[in-house]
Amino acid sequence: MSELHCPSCGSCGFPMREPADFAGGDPDSGFCATCGDDHGQLRPYDAVLEANAAYYVREQGVNAEAARELARALLASMPAWKSAAPSHPRNP
Ligand SMILES: [Zn+2]
Repeated sequence: MSELHCPSCGSCGFPMREPADFAGGDPDSGFCATCGDDHGQLRPYDAVLEANAAYYVREQGVNAEAARELARALLASMPAWKSAAPSHPRNP
């Protein structure tokens, strides 16, 4: 895998290689075009969850329910959402 060589989305882990892969086409965004809006800002959790679920449906052929569970598990492990995850609140 090449994740050491290209930045990945802080929200879903998608590797971003081209400017068009970044939210708003901005390589400084830190989020991919799926998770960020046209200004490079992270979209609301529900929007990101739906977008990633749609990705699983499209790429893996799973049904909508299973896709949403996969997306939920993925987002729960990502830095952008860790603090928002209800299961393991962290108090630094
Ligand atoms: Zn993303």
